[in-house]
Amino acid sequence: MDEKKTLLKVEHLRKYFPVKSGMFKKDYIQAVEDVSFRIYQGETLGIVGESGCGKSTLGRAILRLHEPTSGRVVFDGVAIYDGEQKKQVPMLPYRKRMQIIFQDPSASLDPRMTVGEIVGEALTVHRPDLKGQAYRDRINELLETVGLNSEHANRFPHEFSGGQQQRIGIARALAVEPDFIVCDEPISALDVSIQSQVVNMLEDLQRDKGLTYLFIAHDISVVRHISNRIGVMYLGQMVELSESYELCSQPLHPYTQSLLSAVPLPDPEKTRAQQRVILEGDVPSPLHPPTGCRFHTRCPAATEKCSQCAPTWKEYRPGHFVACHRLEEGD
Ligand code: SF4
Repeated sequence: MDEKKTLLKVEHLRKYFPVKSGMFKKDYIQAVEDVSFRIYQGETLGIVGESGCGKSTLGRAILRLHEPTSGRVVFDGVAIYDGEQKKQVPMLPYRKRMQIIFQDPSASLDPRMTVGEIVGEALTVHRPDLKGQAYRDRINELLETVGLNSEHANRFPHEFSGGQQQRIGIARALAVEPDFIVCDEPISALDVSIQSQVVNMLEDLQRDKGLTYLFIAHDISVVRHISNRIGVMYLGQMVELSESYELCSQPLHPYTQSLLSAVPLPDPEKTRAQQRVILEGDVPSPLHPPTGCRFHTRCPAATEKCSQCAPTWKEYRPGHFVACHRLEEGD
């Protein structure tokens, strides 16, 4: 019996962005296409894929920062988005429970606001009971939680390094005591030396506060360090999802295999012996994605069938989902 509690369920989620094509015609960028998965309470689900594969759009669509096009998002038993319904539930009560840490810390902090104002902004909306000294104490407590101190509250974002700015972004996300945080490439804009500090801090916070993360990154070696399970996205679709160890040791989808083959190993001998799977060509446009399997234009194992019909998303091993014709045929 599965004892894990599902905190978030995403069902057949789509997010299309309209673009003008010609005088009267509209076309659509299919940024997220038919994505389904669930996140268990207290876990970290990593989402990995190349830039432009739709992983950030997926995170924002879940939080309805981008309103989805269709599908369903269920958070703690409540459908916070249901494409079948005309009227959606108001998000304000859920904003307190679902937060986001943005990729670029400097761009996500208002340069005209002090750090105290930035961190306290959500408190003014969600905790109007906190006033005066209690409000200031809460801000100081949040700054200390992320390794800053109360003196920093009166400074402006430009006075901080990239790593410190990201800590401010994390304090802002923690202000309303959320259950679930979308970490949207929170370390990709940081120096490598700072990245591990921020990742370790996120892990500590998760342990202390029982947080659940959707951790988005393009680097699978970072994602596998922090995630319990990993989902791999390609051109708007989820192509593989499994426990981290299994996905990294026994990847089944050719795209996951190519991502993993590019990760350098600590032992140079092993790196030299490692077989690289180098993908030809660029990622196709999500405006007119390839027919059939979207990966067929770059897949080293593609057959004629791959260009004609889309593979189905199936569970090939317990908890290990893949969409690939090669597996359907038992190869
Ligand atoms: Fe490659 Fe075909 Fe599998 Fe797609 S369905 S990943 S093209 S083998």
